[in-house]
Amino acid sequence: MIKEKYLKKLLVTPGKKVKLKDFPTGWAQNEEFKSLGKDALKERASELLEANRNTLASAQELLWASNIYSVLIVLQGMDTSGKDGTIRHVMSGVNPQGCRVTSFKVPTHEETDHNFLWRYTRALPARGEIGIFNRSYYEDVLVVKVHPEILDIQQLPPGRRDDKFWNARYDDINALERHLVHNGTLILKFFLNISNEEQKGRLMERLENKEKYWKFSLSDLAERRYWDDYQQAYENMFSKTSTGAAPWYIIPADYKWVARTVVADIISTKIQELDLHFPEVPEENLEHLEKARKELKNE
Ligand code: AMP
Ligand code: MG
Repeated sequence: MIKEKYLKKLLVTPGKKVKLKDFPTGWAQNEEFKSLGKDALKERASELLEANRNTLASAQELLWASNIYSVLIVLQGMDTSGKDGTIRHVMSGVNPQGCRVTSFKVPTHEETDHNFLWRYTRALPARGEIGIFNRSYYEDVLVVKVHPEILDIQQLPPGRRDDKFWNARYDDINALERHLVHNGTLILKFFLNISNEEQKGRLMERLENKEKYWKFSLSDLAERRYWDDYQQAYENMFSKTSTGAAPWYIIPADYKWVARTVVADIISTKIQELDLHFPEVPEENLEHLEKARKELKNE
């Protein structure tokens, strides 16, 4: 398990102004990591990821068996920040039956014909399930805020798209999350924080490596030009939507092994904190079980 003191540094304090520059993206985040050195740290991270995968697999079984809580994992990050890979690596040990990943793209006509939260609420995990949102309702205060013209074709009531409009969206999101938490959903929100230079490197790789061509989208380059606007939209969003019930974690993501290990650790720690137990079989059912056992044995 990663030290609580370290994780606290990645957590966005509710209401606090966030400057992304204050959050690390690399591996050499503190004196302890630096003195360990990159190779040793990577080795340790890989062991920890493996341990957390196992913990997560048993935690999920308990979650499923007890059928009281659900877990919603929200993954946000700039293009190439490693959202897909994180999901693949962190969730590789869990039973697919109790886990569902939903990737949110540009909304369809049917989706924009409803309130902005509609499509997300339809994909929420049921009790016992882990739901992963690869992008989420946060896109509606990120990409949409950076490109407010997206709203022009969304049939919304007229009005200025000013602070009041965006604050109402943050409020709606907070209200939804509060409702979910009250009803037994553990919400874990991760921002995969990559640096501008690292994004450049990863986009370059997609353009230079034949096997990665398919990953490249022209829109990635177009959006990169809005880097500063996105950073600002993210900073605002963190301040407004990191709450005690559903806080944001800003995950250093320039090194995939760092991001994956930290995310896996937080997920498994937080599910374990739910202190779940296998359901107890009621006394009267024990008799039935005993009878069934005897019948089967004497077959
Ligand atoms: P990807 O995650 O690379 O498959 O890309 C999905 C694209 O859908 C990204 O460019 C997102 O910005 C975009 N997207 C996701 N949600 C929304 C939304 N609510 N409104 C507009 N664009 C969105
Ligand atoms: Mg993409």
